[in-house]
Amino acid sequence: MQTEAYVLTAKDAPFSLQTVELLEPEANEVLIEVVACGICHTDLAIQSGAFPSPFPNVTGHETSGIVVKVGSGVKNKDLKAGDRVLCSFNYCSACKPCKTGHPAACEGFAAINFGRQRSVAVGNKAGIRGPNGEEVYGAFFGQSGFAKHAVVVENSVVKVPNDAAELKTLAPIGCGFQTGAGAILRRLKPAKSSSVAISGLGAVGAGALFAAKYLGIETIILLDVVPGKLDMAKEFGATHTFNARDADVVEQVRKATDGGVDYFVECSGNVRALEAGWAMTANLGTLLSCGTPGPGVNPPFGIFENLVACKTYIGLCEGDSNPPEFVPFLAKLYAEGHFPVDRVSKTYSYKDLDKALHDMHSGEVIKPIIVFKED
Ligand SMILES: [Zn+2]
Ligand SMILES: [Zn+2]
Repeated sequence: MQTEAYVLTAKDAPFSLQTVELLEPEANEVLIEVVACGICHTDLAIQSGAFPSPFPNVTGHETSGIVVKVGSGVKNKDLKAGDRVLCSFNYCSACKPCKTGHPAACEGFAAINFGRQRSVAVGNKAGIRGPNGEEVYGAFFGQSGFAKHAVVVENSVVKVPNDAAELKTLAPIGCGFQTGAGAILRRLKPAKSSSVAISGLGAVGAGALFAAKYLGIETIILLDVVPGKLDMAKEFGATHTFNARDADVVEQVRKATDGGVDYFVECSGNVRALEAGWAMTANLGTLLSCGTPGPGVNPPFGIFENLVACKTYIGLCEGDSNPPEFVPFLAKLYAEGHFPVDRVSKTYSYKDLDKALHDMHSGEVIKPIIVFKED
């Protein structure tokens, strides 16, 4: 079928809205009409070439939509046309992490999601044809949602009960927000009496902050370099905020927490923030990275120094989310008022992508959401 999609024709090229041909869904794929798609820094990392992915391609991996057609081999027999879905990452289903309920730790994660693997051996690996018949790669995180329609790999589709208006707000839950929330709720599971510091109030940091507040953690510290975000963090439940640019920020945090925090959750991907975070983490404490500067960068602390301080360093992808369980759980927390993603998001018509990108870069909005289907 024909649809409109934002195509990246080459590294550093702008997102260009093109009429493309979307090939029929294969047996284990689902055709959806896209309602909305959040913009994530990972999309921009594909555009800049920081994360390798083949061109030309369609990005977008925080998609919500309505099912149009279900492939004949889709295992979830409950799924039918008209169902509302939120999308998340794709995974192989066959490796040990996948088989034990940890698909975010899938051995094939990078190859499948950035390499745009569809789960079946199909003739056209790309899935989309451009205006001149050229192959355009879809299946980014199993979805490629910067489009009016998308063929989504079944692993990436999560059926939810939410109404059409909520589908716009909740579109980004399956990536940035679940990454931060999962760090707290699925991996660290801190005791109420502990101290948690969160570095960077983007979507990932907001997810971590909402989750820490939901658990009733006594000391929740938020670090950012934008004063307005520090004010916002207080509204969302941070008990202390610090400007990460302050020359003595490490001493300030250590003083406020009697020698350092129990858990430091680094969400910005900034290596200097991670280095400061390591110094702010108490001995016996845990430092977790759920933001990344991209492949090939080493942690900025010494093995000896870490050993004698008995600190734990954790790398965590997508918050260790198991999307079929965790995405509906977060949608439920939203409905209950515990996960107010709407307060850090803003919706834009799909024709205003440039404005959305501008507002994201300027820091005016934490999570821009592109709406492809108006009511
Ligand atoms: Zn993302
Ligand atoms: Zn796997």
